[in-house]
Amino acid sequence: MPAKPQVIALEEHYQDPDVVRAYAPEDARQAPVIAERLNDVAELRIKEMDAAGIDLQVLSHGNPGLQTMDAEAAVRLARIANDRLAGAVAARPDRFAAFAALPTPDPKAAADELERAVTKLGFKGALINGPTHGVFLDDKRFWPIFERAAALDVPIYLHPAVPQQAVVDAYYQDYVQDWPSILRAAWGFTVETATQGVRMVLSGVFDAYPGLKIVLGHLGEGLPFLLWRINMGFTRDAKGGRGFREVFCDHFWITTSGFWSDPALLCCVQEVGVDRIMFSVDYPFAPNQPATEWLHKIPLCAEDKAKIASGNARRLLKL
Ligand code: MN
Repeated sequence: MPAKPQVIALEEHYQDPDVVRAYAPEDARQAPVIAERLNDVAELRIKEMDAAGIDLQVLSHGNPGLQTMDAEAAVRLARIANDRLAGAVAARPDRFAAFAALPTPDPKAAADELERAVTKLGFKGALINGPTHGVFLDDKRFWPIFERAAALDVPIYLHPAVPQQAVVDAYYQDYVQDWPSILRAAWGFTVETATQGVRMVLSGVFDAYPGLKIVLGHLGEGLPFLLWRINMGFTRDAKGGRGFREVFCDHFWITTSGFWSDPALLCCVQEVGVDRIMFSVDYPFAPNQPATEWLHKIPLCAEDKAKIASGNARRLLKL
């Protein structure tokens, strides 16, 4: 039997005590079992990685992070949180790497913080939790962040957030009480983040910064499954240039965070290619064990499995 490949997981969350103290009350509310794990970047986390056979976690701040803060607080807390996270990684560089938290309410400061985190702290990119005060990231005011990411050659991970209130009111309100996950993992997260991905492609940001690399979790938030139809639809509006499919497949990577389905994975392999797919769990919101059990049984050859387990992440993040 071939040896099991190294396993790297890259949508794995923690939280910083100073950031959590600055949260609005509804954001600070967490189940104790989740909070305990978000707060731990040492023994408990490593124990649960060991139990599931995860060699390395790329740590990122949990939702909503700095995206809901005012600019002053976001800039101040980004530095504090990223410095503290760098300390946790330095204590166990064999088990942890990191994505920076960025103060997107001040885009110029966010670009500078990304550069500081990558060049001074050794971070591998950044993770952003949804829109910033209701504005999607394709808005031109955020392009300095993408310009800097492309120049540094590090990816930006676009992570879900709860839909905006106007969307909740129009689309979900009737079901929120009994089915609160309609705003989150069951549906709302996916729609929000897939919309963000589509908007990024339409914005032209990838023509402006050809080296820009974006990561989407949850097997691409449904976009690989829909790629054929999205591409056909936008062909009707196209004014020349690259098509949707080409831009998406050139600039996006996807992870398996919280989505361990053979049929869905195989669809992604066919649509975006096995070189663009990376293993992730979404710890601690999803458990490690079933994720790695699934990984080792996916119906692909050993070489492709190794790419998903760690090879693609090693290449993208230069680990
Ligand atoms: Mn997540």
